[in-house]
Amino acid sequence: MSEKPTHDSTEVSRRKLLRTAATAAGAAAVLGAGVTTASAKMAQKAVGYQDTPKDDKTCDICSNWRPPNGCATVDGEIAAKGWCRIFVLKR
Ligand code: SF4
Repeated sequence: MSEKPTHDSTEVSRRKLLRTAATAAGAAAVLGAGVTTASAKMAQKAVGYQDTPKDDKTCDICSNWRPPNGCATVDGEIAAKGWCRIFVLKR
């Protein structure tokens, strides 16, 4: 009399697939956390932000400006007539 296997190949394959999916989901979560950290904005102090212009340069003519009071790369509230060291003139 032959012994019957406790799991057929279909069940084993499904379990293997689920394990692989769980591993991929975990990796995606780790990578997602990395992206969040990498996309964090810089502190105003780190870029020498000031809420007044520098010569004729102001935030509202910078390519990083995000009206009404934001910046794509610098954290916190940003004044339209402010400035910082990473200013890039809008084209
Ligand atoms: S100068 Fe540009 S980069 Fe700097 S805070 Fe203003 S908008 Fe952001």
